[in-house]
Amino acid sequence: MREKKVEQYDVVVIGGGAAGMTAAIYAGRARLSTLIIEQALVGGLATNTNEIENYPGFPEGVTGKGLMELFHQQAKKFDVKFKLTDVRKVELEGEIKKVETFRNIYEAKVVIIASGGRPRVTGADKEEDYLGKGIAFCATCDAAANTGKTVVVIGSGDAAIEEGIFLTKFANKVVVSIIHDEGKMDCNEIAKAAALANSKMEFQWNTVVDHFEGDEELKTVVLKNLKTEALIPIDCHTCFEFIGYIPNTDIFKGLIDITNKGYIVTNENMETNVEGVYAVGDVRDRYLRQVATCVGDGATAGVGAEKYIAESEAFVSHVMKEDKPGVAYVFNAIEADQRELLSEIEKMELDYKDQYYFSKIDVYKSKGLANRLGVKEYPAVAIIKDGKVDCIITENISKESLLKALK
Ligand SMILES: Cc1cc2nc3c(=O)[nH]c(=O)nc-3n(C[C@H](O)[C@H](O)[C@H](O)COP(=O)(O)OP(=O)(O)OC[C@H]3O[C@@H](n4cnc5c(N)ncnc54)[C@H](O)[C@@H]3O)c2cc1C
Repeated sequence: MREKKVEQYDVVVIGGGAAGMTAAIYAGRARLSTLIIEQALVGGLATNTNEIENYPGFPEGVTGKGLMELFHQQAKKFDVKFKLTDVRKVELEGEIKKVETFRNIYEAKVVIIASGGRPRVTGADKEEDYLGKGIAFCATCDAAANTGKTVVVIGSGDAAIEEGIFLTKFANKVVVSIIHDEGKMDCNEIAKAAALANSKMEFQWNTVVDHFEGDEELKTVVLKNLKTEALIPIDCHTCFEFIGYIPNTDIFKGLIDITNKGYIVTNENMETNVEGVYAVGDVRDRYLRQVATCVGDGATAGVGAEKYIAESEAFVSHVMKEDKPGVAYVFNAIEADQRELLSEIEKMELDYKDQYYFSKIDVYKSKGLANRLGVKEYPAVAIIKDGKVDCIITENISKESLLKALK
């Protein structure tokens, strides 16, 4: 088998949706060499949305595709590279991470996971037979083909009801299957009122899909009333399923912290539990999944990547030198006693700078360097020998104790 080609980047972003492209815009603008790997369509999920009315800066609304094209143009302006292929495997530990596709291995100092999610399916009988043959997940893509026809929409969240309303511009009739009692929907109140007032929309309350029927193409969705158990066949041209999303995290399982629902756990800086690995957008465990929140995540991770790489370089060039032993004083500059100890260390530096390296790390400015040294409480001194941390001193830090440790 052909050897995989290896390419190096500062930052590799997995997924080219709103979140991934924003992270890449920030990283590219910081002059980091940045690659986005996208397995399907640049723009991701948002390209499936006909009208985005709540993304700031577009008072008249904007199509999802149009908005994502603007993101794409902006990323290219900052020299972000795009590869259209799927990531199959990652190695995330260590300073250099590996992102593998069918043909290539991309090495990166930082990996930003922006792999979003995929539509959840009902699991009803014969569903697999009609995926892409009458069962669809994107109204924008398939609305026109349903002009003058009957369609079924499954679900009652924002996506189901808003896309259902959009479908009434094309279809003759939109039958919505809702699991709840009459009048209860999971969507916002504005969408609910608009749907209930729409004469082309018909609601089947207390129903789920029992099974699908057809020949080569889907012909009928058979609903089941959960209260009466009655089967309700609805002949239709397309059945649109809008019942939620499953995060695309299979390739990261066992490598980073993931919730039991499959979402990646991060802190507010989008950092995962693995150094140099960030997660942004819908793939992340968070409260709101929207383009605006993806943009915030991406910006945070892009800036975080820049800082992390600068810190890594400083760590190697200033702290972990190999030619002579070193003292790395880790302190919090807002604490008076830790500032006092800093002057003691600086005095010592004047006397011993020919024998030892001295570095001072203010955790207020760069906590990442302290983490890399394995220092968790401050003040502390890490003694470096042969380019490695030899020991960490947190108690009785004095010239005498440091000289003893440096011997
Ligand atoms: C019907 C509907 C309507 C919506 N309406 C609105 C709205 O009006 N306003 C709003 O703000 N938001 C809306 N949203 C939500 C919004 O679209 C999402 O929050 C946003 O697009 C998510 O962006 P993302 O970058 O996190 O993920 P995605 O857009 O899902 O991008 C992830 C990308 O990663 C790629 N990928 C996954 N795995 C791999 C891999 N292994 N290798 C390479 N690439 C990979 C995928 O192909 C995908 O393109 C709507 C969503 C839906 C479904």
